[in-house]
Amino acid sequence: MRNSREPNGSNSGSGKAPAVIGIDIGGTKMLGLVIDETSRTVVQEKWPTPKGAPEIVNGLAGLTADLVERTGETHEVRGVGVGIAGLVDSSGRLRRAPNLVDSDEFAVRDLLEPNVGLPVFVDNDANCAARAELHVGVAQGVKHAVLITLGTGIGGALIADGKIVRGAAGMAGEPGHMLVDPAGPQCVCGLKGCWERYASGAGLAYLGRRAAEQGDLSAVVENLDGDLARLHGEHVTRAGRLGDPQAAAVLDTFAWWVSVGMANCAAMSDPELIIVGGGLVRDWDLFGPRVGVYLNEVLVAAEHRPPIRCEPAVAGEAAGALGAAFLAATETGVLR
Ligand SMILES: [Zn+2]
Repeated sequence: MRNSREPNGSNSGSGKAPAVIGIDIGGTKMLGLVIDETSRTVVQEKWPTPKGAPEIVNGLAGLTADLVERTGETHEVRGVGVGIAGLVDSSGRLRRAPNLVDSDEFAVRDLLEPNVGLPVFVDNDANCAARAELHVGVAQGVKHAVLITLGTGIGGALIADGKIVRGAAGMAGEPGHMLVDPAGPQCVCGLKGCWERYASGAGLAYLGRRAAEQGDLSAVVENLDGDLARLHGEHVTRAGRLGDPQAAAVLDTFAWWVSVGMANCAAMSDPELIIVGGGLVRDWDLFGPRVGVYLNEVLVAAEHRPPIRCEPAVAGEAAGALGAAFLAATETGVLR
């Protein structure tokens, strides 16, 4: 343990409170924060995400230096956690990042550590979001859970025995590209019929366009002057919220597809809780109740299992940064 000279994890010789930084790198912004040993957020700030791996390292180093400076009088920062959307391996290398510019095979930890002079820990953003739910959110005290994030695509995390499962190479818990329909629509990953083609924001848009092509969703199509290419998931949810029955039907189909992937996750991991995060969770009231119903229909032996709770994530916009901070805090002994 890196701070073994301070067995109680409390104030160091400097008299300052131990703290860690967490940074979440999204496609457009980086959210950084500092938490102390009581999990309290001390400061938080947002920077734009630079384009390109070297620029991101510079940005991370700059944000880290800024956060250290802002808390330096009262806190001693012991480590930096970084959460990134994409496949992150256990050495802290970003293998594949579809949402970041020129950042595949980006050795985040090895490049950042010498820049900031602090231990750096890197994980996938959904794993970080799951850590936030475990520490301060809806999964507190939960041993076995699955987190799925329904955004542009689908991210995920697997919690077993109260811990995030990272797998052999660090890439476990990636349900978005599970094949649910091998004859289905083309996915960005090169395969066809991945779960996220149906059950993400892009999936809802696809289901909406498909319904429109069959003559449904007429009010939405009229508002778009018949241009189906402009039809996004939000058009469906907005119309659903206004009581449009054809939009409600699309949302019902969407809920079925969400439940299909959830059932696959549940068949593999037997969770007590499925946490739903990501941008679409703000419309959970529109499709969540149907997901619960369909999950019982498509999950094998549902009537012989304890019911699986499906609940929206509660850690909010800062979940990724908070979870990255919890990763660093656990690894450095600031939190136990
Ligand atoms: Zn795919």
